[in-house]
This record gives sequence, structure tokens and C-alpha cells, in this order.
Amino acid sequence: MPVYTLPELPYDYAALAPVISPEIVELHHDKHHAAYVKGANDTLEQLAEARETERWGSVNGLEKSLAFHLSGHILHSIYWQNMTGEGGGEPLAADGVGELAEAIAESFGSFASFKAQLSKAAATTQGSGWGVLAYEPLSGRLIVEQVYDHQGNVGQGATPLLVFDAWEHAFYLQYRNQKVDFVEAMWRVVNWQDVARRYAAAKSRTDVLLLAP
Ligand code: MN
Repeated sequence: MPVYTLPELPYDYAALAPVISPEIVELHHDKHHAAYVKGANDTLEQLAEARETERWGSVNGLEKSLAFHLSGHILHSIYWQNMTGEGGGEPLAADGVGELAEAIAESFGSFASFKAQLSKAAATTQGSGWGVLAYEPLSGRLIVEQVYDHQGNVGQGATPLLVFDAWEHAFYLQYRNQKVDFVEAMWRVVNWQDVARRYAAAKSRTDVLLLAP
């Protein structure tokens, strides 16, 4: 039985149009995300085989493969839920997401500054990567990370809350080489209710690192 399974999309393929075309959503979820799920499960099996046979020659590659596919699965699972056809704007107390709005203002100075940093981080990824808003439990603050592939360039322990997929497969069929335009459009489908829900959950488990004695 596979350990990881592909989650259903919380909407139909056309729900994010015109920001993201139905064709991209279908391919991205059914093919790309599915491949990361399969890759994570296959790698776990290969690691089990390495343990059983005590053949460790490929352990470096397998550990990298596990990080890549598992991180790909996790980031895409968050990505789909981070978006809604009725999204966009900015988080407002009037919409019940005031705590998130305050945390953004405290951590980045203003929503505009946060938006600029995450947009730049996503749009300037070299090769494949992500722009990520994450909750960093040691400081209790929000940070932006620029992730390479799915797993590189991240600090340990931070929890992703809002993720912008900046891989070409996320936009190329519709936006061609205009990654900046895609990132700008992404803000129109952000589901702030989902981001706020993730923020509250991440904050409530700040002792997860157990760094204090
Ligand atoms: Mn992707």
C-alpha cells in the first residue's frame, strides 16, 4: 500500500481561470504532482530494499530523491489549497484573517513590502523553484524563502503557509517566458482563509523543535 496518495483538487480544472488555464491545472495536478507522489513512494520502497539487502551504494541518490519527491508532494498539496477562484486582495481583519494580517505587517513592515519580497523571490528563481511564505517558530515570525527545486535553500523547521510554484510547468503553456506576469496574476487567486488557517496551526505547535531543555 502506498504511503503517499495524490489529493483531489478542491475545485474543478477551470476554477482558477483566467489566472491559470484549465489545461495547466489538469496537467500540473494529474501528471506533475502525481509523479512526485509516485516518486516518494518508489523511493521509500528502494530504501527499504537497501536496508534489507544492506546495499547502501545508492543511499546518497535515494535520500536526495526522497527529499525532492516528498517536498514536491507537500508543496503541491499546499499550493492547490492556497488558491481559489474567489481569492485575491489582501488579508483583512474584516474577513476573519486579522491575525495573519498583523503577523505580515510585523514581520515585513507592510503587506506591500511582503508582496514585493515574495513576488521577487518567486520570479527570480534560477531554474526550477518556489517562492514560499513560511512560519519560523524560533522567532515566531514569518519569513520568505526562495526554494530551489522543491527542497533546496530552506532553513530547517519553518512551516510553509503560502507557496508560489515558479517551475516552468506551472505557467509556460499560458504565460510563455513571462514569469513575472504569472507571479503578479497569482495574487488574484490567493485563498487568504487557507493561509490564515495554516498560520494558526503552525503557531500552535511552536514547541515542535524542542530546542529549549
Ligand atoms: Mn509544480
